[in-house]
Amino acid sequence: MNKLKRAVILIGMVFTIQTAGSAILVPPVDSHARTTYVWIAPHYGKKYHFSRNCRGLNNAGYERHVTIHWARAHHYRLCGFEK
Ligand SMILES: [Zn+2]
Repeated sequence: MNKLKRAVILIGMVFTIQTAGSAILVPPVDSHARTTYVWIAPHYGKKYHFSRNCRGLNNAGYERHVTIHWARAHHYRLCGFEK
């Protein structure tokens, strides 16, 4: 009986540690922050665009679809036509 009790306590501790660990690993979810995707032209300046048909992308050539978070983290700025 005593052994069983010990095992239960041990399992409880493991679960607590796992829960605490995942709480640190999983980033907090902001319910307001919906992922927004933007267009960038990596070989054509440091601007991002909400619209793929934007004038600023006319001569871009190679385009990439990325999250706005990624674009900002890489120092892209909103294009002048979409301000
Ligand atoms: Zn634009």
